[in-house]
This record gives sequence, C-alpha cells and structure tokens, in this order.
Amino acid sequence: MKKILFAAAEAVPFIKTGGLADVAGSLPFAFDPAEHDVRVMLPAYTCIPAPWREAMRDLTHFYVWFNGKERYLGVRELTHRGLHFYFIDNEDYFGGPAPYTDYMYDIEKFCFFSFAVLAVLPHIDFRPDIIHCHDWHTGLIPPYLATQFRYDPFFAGMRTVFTIHNLKFQGICGRDELRCISGLPGELFAQGPLCSGSCGNMMQGALHYADAVTTVSQTYAQEICTPEYGEGLHFFFAERRDRFSGIVNGIDDAVFDPAKDPSLKRHYDVSHVKSGKAANKAALQKELGLDADPDAFLLGIVSRLTDQKGMDLVLPLLEKLTSGPCQLIVLGTGERHYEDSFRLMAGARPNRMAVMTTYDEPLSHRIYAGIDAFLMPSRFEPCGLSQLIALRYGALPIVRATGGLKDTVRSLDKAGAAATGFMFEDYDVGGLNWAIDLAMRTFYDDRKTWEKMRRNAMREDFSWSRSAEEYSKLYDKVLK
Ligand code: ADP
Repeated sequence: MKKILFAAAEAVPFIKTGGLADVAGSLPFAFDPAEHDVRVMLPAYTCIPAPWREAMRDLTHFYVWFNGKERYLGVRELTHRGLHFYFIDNEDYFGGPAPYTDYMYDIEKFCFFSFAVLAVLPHIDFRPDIIHCHDWHTGLIPPYLATQFRYDPFFAGMRTVFTIHNLKFQGICGRDELRCISGLPGELFAQGPLCSGSCGNMMQGALHYADAVTTVSQTYAQEICTPEYGEGLHFFFAERRDRFSGIVNGIDDAVFDPAKDPSLKRHYDVSHVKSGKAANKAALQKELGLDADPDAFLLGIVSRLTDQKGMDLVLPLLEKLTSGPCQLIVLGTGERHYEDSFRLMAGARPNRMAVMTTYDEPLSHRIYAGIDAFLMPSRFEPCGLSQLIALRYGALPIVRATGGLKDTVRSLDKAGAAATGFMFEDYDVGGLNWAIDLAMRTFYDDRKTWEKMRRNAMREDFSWSRSAEEYSKLYDKVLK
C-alpha cells in the first residue's frame, strides 16, 4: 500500500479558481484504493462554502514559530467520497474573500502552507511515503523536507513529487524577503537553489529538491527545456531531464458524457453520433440565433480570450469563419480587445456568428455537443482540457502542434484512418488557415472520413484512471 499525500492550494469541490482544482480534486479518486491510500491537504480558507466548512471536524491544533511570530496551526478534516481531506487552519493567512489576495501576502501564506503541511504530519494519524506537491504554492515543501525536517526520524525516507500545472506563476519575490519569511537556511539563497540573482523563487526550490518533477504533457515537458517556453527556468528542466517527465491530465468522464449530460437537448453516444450531433447542432443554432442550416460548417471556441490561446491568429480569419458556409460561436472571457473584436464581428453578422463574453458551464457543454469543429490554435498549452472535452463530444479539434495538444490530437494529414483532428505546426495565420481548409474539405468532400474521425475522437480514453496509472508507476520509481 503506497501512502500518498496531495498538497495543493485548491481542489474541487471545496475551492476552485482554475484547472489545478480539477486535478487535485479528481485525480486522487482515480487510484486503485487496494494499492493506494491517497489523501489531500488544502488550506482551510474561510471562503470555502459553509456546508463544507461545517462538515469539517477539528483534529488538532498547536502553535509554531513562523516568520518572526508564534502562529496558530490547526488541522481540520472531512471525508469526501471515501477519501480524507485535511485542511490547514490559520485564519490570519487563509481568511478573506478569495484564496489569492495580495501578491506578497500570497507568497507568505503559501510559505506557511508549505511549512504547515510537514509540521502537522506527526500530529495526525498518517505518514505519507510521498508528498505530491502541485504548483508554486507548495514549492517550499521539498526544500523544508530536505533541511528543517530532515533530522526528525519521522520524515526519514519520505519522498516528494512536484507537478507543474502553470509555469507562468512561480512564487517570485525578493531573495532576502523569501529567506526571512521562509526561515530556510541562508545557504539555500547564497548558493542558488532558491534564487536567481536577487530574486527568490519558490518553484525553483521544488525543482531543485523534489525527487521527481512532472508537468502535464510529454511535449510540454520537452518544450520547457527551451528558452522559448521555459519562463526563465529552462536550464533547470534541461539539466534534470532524468527526473523530469510529462503525464497528460484527464477529464471526469462522468461529468463530460454526451450520453448523460443534463445540459444537452439530445443525448448521444458513439453509435448515435450522427443523429445526436445533428439534433444538438440544430438546437444550438436556434438558441444562439444563427441560421438554421444543417449543412453549415459550425466552428466553436470555448476559451480564455488571451494571446496564449492563439486568439491573434483567429482575428484575421474572422471574415472567412463567418461567411460562405461557415458559422462561428465564441464563448470566452479575457483580454478586452479580443472580446471587443469578436463582439463587433458578431454584431455585423448575427446570423453567422454568436459571441458570449461570460463564463457559462452548461452552455459550454451545449457548444461542444453542437459544433462540428473546435478551434484551439494555442501559442503554448501545458495540457489543455478543452480539446479533450471536444473529442469526447465528437467535435473535431483544429489545433496547433504544441504541448498537450500535440499529445492528445492525431492530425488527419499524419494519422490517416486513426485521425481525430487537424493540426498545424508553425504559429502563424497561414498555418491555421491551412488546417481550417483541410477540415472544411474533409467535412464537405469526404464525409466518410469525417464520420470515422468523429467516432475515433469519441472512443479516445482520457479518463483520469489513465493518468493515475502513470503517476502510480512514477511513485514506484521514486520509492525504489
Ligand atoms: P486553461 O488554460 O484556461 O486552463 P484548459 O483548456 O486547460 O485551458 O481548460 C479550460 C476549461 O475551461 C475547459 O473546461 C473549458 O471548457 C472551460 N472554459 C473556458 N472558458 C469558458 C467559458 N467562458 N465558459 C465555460 N467554460 C469555459
């Protein structure tokens, strides 16, 4: 039995601001319980909804010296769907209306969280073999384990795995500030494991001390070894290739299931994909005021509207995507100029284009179910969930060959009969245009291939159990 503790800043259903919460709250359930005892540790934010907070019971509390003060450190616990969730309690740090508040204070609160995760372990009835840390918020757990906690026999042999979900955020502040707040030994800062020049960097500490580092796709794991994608840390990844790997995320196939999805007008599975998608397409065109045209080539975007997602490649093609046989649906929020440009075009062609600048989960499901093709021309993409959902709903993805998109979509021009989508290489408008043309030609001139690709797409296995198997193998390797 392997004992694994997940440490993360957020996890569904308790608290969510982004994809990290989906991973930390879904992946633990995908491990075989006969071989794994997986538990999760989170901050006890006071903004966690009251019903969850009321379900927690106090396990223990004591005081610790941290950043020049004696601090309260409590542990609360609840059991959710058969797994233990622990919550680190300190209202000074984890009070307030949202998990992340002021940047510098966030640095301090997650230094405290990293320290607290280790400090509470001898006081609860659980000694993990591995602490699986997620993103910069937990970046100091490996350095603390390697220094302050190292001499306590309780921690002997305990290992750490660190997973990067978002390399953009690393927990960077002044080197001296990080040294003072964390209380970690000065030599970690003088010699560099936790700093670059005058900057302290929490994620860098994890990269240096963790027994294994992963990110969320194999291609992204290779890409971030280069200066173009490495966000200033490429040299670390390149140096530690032997301890560094990529494991693709999954999606919750109970939530994203076109055969049962409560948001859909008509349910379908792979054997009824043609009629099922046609019915959802008609319903979607009606709902959004588009021409009721079963033969239109209906494209969709469900995304943050940012440069990362390749929106600058989409804008020059808007004319094409909303004329001729094409219709376009955009659901997303983000940078103002993208929202405005999409709205302007939709205003001019309301029967060919619909834009919703809101966050609307049920509508997103109806879009995945109703569209023919899904546009995701990302500049970079650590893993990407949207293309996985699109595949599951039989909407063929048109993507750029980067990160997780490259690992999860098989392009028609390369994969032939096994294809699930369309992929272009270079980040330019011409590349995206080429992929859209190939998709349109297939849709109109080679319907048999299109139908086959849809079935291929819907049969792909992106369940969490596949990811869990990979992590389990990694844990075995780390424990050897
Ligand atoms: P990100 O980089 O934003 O995490 P992912 O592709 O990994 O991108 O995940 C995005 C998730 O958010 C997908 O589940 C997508 O359907 C959903 N999403 C994005 N924007 C919206 C929106 N405006 N309304 C509903 N769902 C959205």
